Amino acid sequence: MECDKCGREAVMHAAYSGLHLCKTHLCVSVEKRVRRRIREDGLLSAAATPDDPETWVVGLSGGKDSVVLTHILAETFGKDPRIDLVALSIHEGIEGYRDASLDASEELTRELDIRHEVVTYAEEFGLRMDQVVEDDPEGMAPCAYCGVFRRDILERYAADLGADKLLTGHNLDDEAQTALMNFFSGDVKQMAKHFDASLGPFPDRAETDRFVPRAKPLRDVPEKEVALYAHLMDLPAHITECPHASEAYRGEIQQLLLEMEESHPGTRHSILSGYEELAELAALRHRENGDDDSEFGECDRCGAPTARDICRKCYLVEAVTEA
Ligand code: SF4
Repeated sequence: MECDKCGREAVMHAAYSGLHLCKTHLCVSVEKRVRRRIREDGLLSAAATPDDPETWVVGLSGGKDSVVLTHILAETFGKDPRIDLVALSIHEGIEGYRDASLDASEELTRELDIRHEVVTYAEEFGLRMDQVVEDDPEGMAPCAYCGVFRRDILERYAADLGADKLLTGHNLDDEAQTALMNFFSGDVKQMAKHFDASLGPFPDRAETDRFVPRAKPLRDVPEKEVALYAHLMDLPAHITECPHASEAYRGEIQQLLLEMEESHPGTRHSILSGYEELAELAALRHRENGDDDSEFGECDRCGAPTARDICRKCYLVEAVTEA
């Protein structure tokens, strides 16, 4: 099959657009979609100047998504004096898994010449995920613990590093799956949080939010194309799956979406664009009702914003370390 842009050999066919693309045009297309998303989300504030640059912290796991995002950001903004890029990696303490992906992250940041910070669960919380899985004091799936710990580190370190934005490498499949999971559980509040946390007009929100605003510039690109980009560009991405991966429900949704996409190309794009509109409406309603401000106090242990006396992270850390 030939590339629809230049006639060279195609490396992929995107059923949702009908296009066959060669290596060069696939890579150009992925980069264009990321840059367009950054523009449309208003990620780069007009107030950023070479004398007063913005700091963007990128969550870098070493997997294909975060590696591709970090690579494109560094290629686009690496020499832009209005932006300081910092990569932040987290070591959960998973034997035979995270060391290799951290090596990939170190290689990438060295090649791109960007600052790289590494934080460990062991130093932060005095625990390792392998131990959490073994003790499991709350009878939960490993990812339920790990997600809480990771979110805490990302938010705290983004703030400590002076981040204006926290960027993560969620792709189109991730986001369409999350959207469907929230639809299926009827969780409007979660939709509102999704909008507040990752979408929408940044300039208005940055001043009022308690958390560093999040962005997901890779969310227009399907997972398969992200993987192909990493492979074609020979990026040092680590592809082994975590041995504790346990999100069974997400797996079911993933399978459902793949089947829908096969018979109705473009399903993931439609889900995400509809979801973003609904999430915005949910966020507006949430704010009009004053729900967001009334919910948060400070955690008695660590001072993090929480609706309880002790935040979820401190509760889980204590449960694990006292088990
Ligand atoms: Fe943590 Fe689950 Fe991701 Fe493994 S798959 S790193 S346990 S969130």
